[in-house]
Amino acid sequence: MSTNNKFSLFLSFSLLSYIVLVFSFYASASKGIDTHKNSLVTQADLHYQDIVNTRAWNAELGGVFAYQGHYKPNPYLKNNTIKDSNGETLIKINPAWMTRMLSEHSTNDNFKFYLKSNTPVNPINQAKGFYSDALKEISQTVDTKNIKRYQVVENTKTFEYIQGLYLEKACMSCHQKAGDKLGFIRGGIAIQINAKPYFTRADEIWKEFYSTTAIVSILFVFLIILVYKFFHHVHDIEILNSTLEEKVKEKASKLKNALEGARLGYWSWDLHTNEYKADERWLFILGLSKEKHNEIIKDWKKWIHPDDLSHVNAIVENAILESNPYVVEFRMKHKNGNYIWIECAGSIIYYDKNSKPVELAGTHQNITQRKELEKESIKNSIYLNTLFDKNPNIIIVTNAEHILKANQAFFKLFSEYDSLDIFLKEHDCICRFFENEDEENFISNVKSKWIGEVFSKEQPIAKIIHNSKIYYFAVQAKKIYEDNNMHYIVTFSDISETYNLKKKFEELSITDPLTGLYNRRYFNKIFTGEINRALRSNQSLTFLIIDIDHFKLYNDNYGHDKGDVLLQALAEQFKASLKRSNEFIFRIGGEEFGVIYSGLSKEESMAHAQEICDSIADMKIEHDYSYPLKILTVSIGHFYATKGDLLQGNQIFHNADQALYFAKENGRNRVEDYDEVINDRT
Ligand code: GH3
Ligand code: MG
Ligand code: MG
Repeated sequence: MSTNNKFSLFLSFSLLSYIVLVFSFYASASKGIDTHKNSLVTQADLHYQDIVNTRAWNAELGGVFAYQGHYKPNPYLKNNTIKDSNGETLIKINPAWMTRMLSEHSTNDNFKFYLKSNTPVNPINQAKGFYSDALKEISQTVDTKNIKRYQVVENTKTFEYIQGLYLEKACMSCHQKAGDKLGFIRGGIAIQINAKPYFTRADEIWKEFYSTTAIVSILFVFLIILVYKFFHHVHDIEILNSTLEEKVKEKASKLKNALEGARLGYWSWDLHTNEYKADERWLFILGLSKEKHNEIIKDWKKWIHPDDLSHVNAIVENAILESNPYVVEFRMKHKNGNYIWIECAGSIIYYDKNSKPVELAGTHQNITQRKELEKESIKNSIYLNTLFDKNPNIIIVTNAEHILKANQAFFKLFSEYDSLDIFLKEHDCICRFFENEDEENFISNVKSKWIGEVFSKEQPIAKIIHNSKIYYFAVQAKKIYEDNNMHYIVTFSDISETYNLKKKFEELSITDPLTGLYNRRYFNKIFTGEINRALRSNQSLTFLIIDIDHFKLYNDNYGHDKGDVLLQALAEQFKASLKRSNEFIFRIGGEEFGVIYSGLSKEESMAHAQEICDSIADMKIEHDYSYPLKILTVSIGHFYATKGDLLQGNQIFHNADQALYFAKENGRNRVEDYDEVINDRT
């Protein structure tokens, strides 16, 4: 039965009890009041009987004489007085008159009585109201004697009583004369009793009833509240219990689902009884079923690979000793005869009073696949390590700040360091060894940015100078995520040999083989670049064309070979005169040379050209066929290009050539400036 129903039942029962109790209080109160009322009736009955007896006594005596002082003479009787021996007058008093006299003499406030009749001789005895009705009723029921009626009048707090007066034998001596018969009712005795005590008592009884009922009601309400609270509490506990029960059930089902989902077998092990229990999944992992192989669970240890058993025992014993959860991996025999790998996680779930472990529980998981993958990955990592270590290229793993790992090739280059730690004590980064090269694809050694450069350059090259040797490395980097951090595997392939060869070919392609000066191709290649550089740096650019004077005559007279030697000697002299880094000289034709320099004033520029011109004349090379001097000279066309000229690049060469033309025309062995010549001419 639910708590609510129990409470309803209790409430119904309690209400019924309450009603019965209150009713019994009421009945008892009513009964008490009735008893008091009955005592009034008894009193009245006794009085009535006294009066009747007194009347009968009087009647039997045919009336009695009494001293006149006490009673008035009956006006309806004549000759009713006598004298005693002392001469005192006695009057005769008949029953009716006696009754009246007695009632008149009755002075007790609590009690009065009257003679009442519906047909009185004396009008004063005329019954009225209640008494008249009662007498009529009494006289009509002739067959029944001792008829009485009474009422309690609340407003006057009076008890009113009337009973008929029957003609008795003693009365007949007088009444026979009037024709009345025995048992005839002429009237009745009315009695009035003060009912105040009765009402007071009744009030008291009712007050007692109300107060008792009130106390009982309050107690009842209290009881109901108390019991309600109790049931409510019980109900709450029941709800709590049922919620807890549901939660436990839910948790158990979740655990079951989780175990199912995770494909975990569940086991528990009572250490006292050594009883080992396991669920279906536990058996399923071993290819067994609950119906057929449940017994096997007991001997679970027998199924562990003999080589793993001592290890498992040690782990479990230690976990029990130290009250720690544990995880252990071991092999167990599958139904198919093969061993599978199990990961067993266990922990203590119960302790006894002395905190000693009593029960262990945990899970089994088939990890054979993982183990195989691990084996595979170990194998792979061995391959990878070999590839890494034995790779002829330098391979480092870096976080762009520090080197985290380096292979053997790295230590072949940095052979003075025995380990990476020692290397890192002196150099935080391999980039410290990078040399800047004024070419686009070279990565610089700006710390922590060089990795970014590797990714941004097309064919990144690191130039490393170590132990006075220059190395060129093609660099490649790959991003990897390791432990949530970005790492880079950077490979340095030594391309020094190729690089040097390439450099050599490049040099050859831009060098004039006879003089060793830059050739026309290189001039064409860099001329525009130099113009732009001057524009960018807001500098002037001077372009000279140098031409040997009367060289044809030299060849013709001294031979072509000598002419070649002369070309070489002049080239050396030009190189000697043009030593600054921003000065270039090219052999732009057979016996013509181009010179570029920048950043000088026009005067300085002219003076510099003049120096070159003079330096050749100063060599005093014999040229008997030259004129006006008998030595070898050169003529130079000078063009000083400022911003406006630089913007029209093609014109520069042309203007210098024009100036050269004028130098030849003006007598050779001289420098002519284009602007000056043009100004002179115009
Ligand atoms: P000018 O003073 O007007 O310049 O007279 P020039 O004889 O120097 O001028 P021209 O242009 O008539 O002759 C240039 C000569 O340079 C012709 C050629 O034999 C000579 N020459 C050109 N290249 C070579 C070379 O590689 N070796 C030698 N030995 N001579 C060369
Ligand atoms: Mg020439
Ligand atoms: Mg010439």
